[in-house]
Amino acid sequence: ELYNLVVPEHQTRLDRVVDDSLTHGGSYSVEYQFQHRDGTLRWVEERGQMIFDASGSAQWIDGAMLDLGDRKALEHRLAHEASHDPLTGLPNRTLLLDHLERAVARSHREPTTTGVLFVDLDRFKLVNDALGHTAGDELLIHFTRRLRSVMRDSDLAARTGGDEFVIVCSDLDDPVEAEIIAGRVASVLRDPFTVHGRTIFVTASIGIAFAEPGTSAGDVLRSADAAAYRAKDRGRNRYEVFDEALRAATAAALETETDLHHALSDHQLFLRYQPVVALETGEITGAEGLVRWQHPERGLLAPDQFLPAAEASGLIVAIGREILTLAVGAMSAITESALPTIAINLAPRELAQPDLVERVRRTLNEQDVAAHRLCIEITESAVLDEVETAIATLEALRSLGVRLAIDDFGTGYSSLSYLRRLPVDIVKIDRSFTSEIGNDGSNLTIIAGIIGLARGLGLDVIAEGVETVRQRDTLRELGCTFGQGFLFSPPIALDDLLGLPNQRTFGDLDARH
Ligand code: C2E
Ligand code: CA
Ligand code: CA
Repeated sequence: ELYNLVVPEHQTRLDRVVDDSLTHGGSYSVEYQFQHRDGTLRWVEERGQMIFDASGSAQWIDGAMLDLGDRKALEHRLAHEASHDPLTGLPNRTLLLDHLERAVARSHREPTTTGVLFVDLDRFKLVNDALGHTAGDELLIHFTRRLRSVMRDSDLAARTGGDEFVIVCSDLDDPVEAEIIAGRVASVLRDPFTVHGRTIFVTASIGIAFAEPGTSAGDVLRSADAAAYRAKDRGRNRYEVFDEALRAATAAALETETDLHHALSDHQLFLRYQPVVALETGEITGAEGLVRWQHPERGLLAPDQFLPAAEASGLIVAIGREILTLAVGAMSAITESALPTIAINLAPRELAQPDLVERVRRTLNEQDVAAHRLCIEITESAVLDEVETAIATLEALRSLGVRLAIDDFGTGYSSLSYLRRLPVDIVKIDRSFTSEIGNDGSNLTIIAGIIGLARGLGLDVIAEGVETVRQRDTLRELGCTFGQGFLFSPPIALDDLLGLPNQRTFGDLDARH
């Protein structure tokens, strides 16, 4: 009988699946070794299905056996696939961590050190977007080839993400060697690449970190990543070494992140509201809700003190939910005539949430607030990542009846051409344009152009950061209908906003030019 040829240590696993299929029905699959007639051990996979008769008792097994051939070769191939990036053939993150762990352990024992270079190609996304993914892939392959040419035999390069590479330099006698390798990476990028017949110049932002006593592979990798982030932040095409300042900043961000979890569960976040004013009449037509954090130890925090950490950690999505609930709750508590609309800001990550539209719909429904009272502000950069999906989401929001605004307009890449494609109702002109007004020799052409274009497309225009009467009057003359800014009111509590006189003319502030 075949069963007796199954190697004894595999008989039980065969028994188990057959028993299981006897009691529960269904099919099974099991791998085992058996003794072939020629005396060798062979790996097979057996797939079977128990066939029952009408009364429910098992009749026979309908099955097949598959020769797995040289098991070792197969496993070897699978292991290679599981540990390498198929495009470039470089080790992937799994193998990298494995290798790095051993290198770090060694450098704890020996006088040498391990350096990690985190290499991030600058603006790679632009290549992908402009020339297509196959061009992007080709560029990565060319880059890998050049990368290999600068590495020492003992170094290991891995691809850890789309345009992210990591080089592990083990057994460095002097940390400065890692900087030399970073310089070599930059130097192989000096010559352009030819992809699909096009010439492309590429630069890289590189972060360097070293294995220090007590650090794990994951720590070193994170530090190198943080250093690369700073290299990007400081203008790209450069390298940065992880240092004390970065360590402190990273630790602070981590602490903020931990605290933010409490902020959510203990409801420490709230909204301040800044009125939007009709420039012609001074009437308050709505308000923008701006998030604040009453931190138990650090006091009142402004968005720029915690939103970056929230965005980096993904907590921004949960925070955004809370803000939506707060804003809609505020509207349900007051009549439309007291305050027609409230606007909230949406981070790019939030716009990409698949359940966003449904959540907005549900929140409005539950609180019985008309959709046209809610305005959602997004920046161009939120749309640029995934243009088609973003537009679909915006259209879905709009068909709920929600109003949409483009925030900080004029600061993005290709503002004017995008504006036509985006299904929005309002353009908010960035504060930097408003603050130009009144400066000697200020150039009003751009701001006039934006206002003209927006109005030509039938959109409302809100100027942000109106601080002086002169700015307000000039904006009005240029055809801008609404304004927001310290001239009218800073962001304040909702009750205070409702208590404001409805005519915000502030003639007495003329002196503030
Ligand atoms: P923003 O959306 O452009 O908001 C306007 C910012 O300009 C607010 O800063 C406001 O206080 C400030 N501001 C208003 N009028 C004037 C003025 O006349 N002069 C000057 N110099 N500034 C003025 P805030 O509240 O610190 O918010 C900063 C940014 O944080 C916001 O810029 C927005 O991008 C983000 N943010 C605020 N609340 C939220 C939120 O609930 N969710 C998300 N995702 N982002 C938010
Ligand atoms: Ca805004
Ligand atoms: Ca803005």
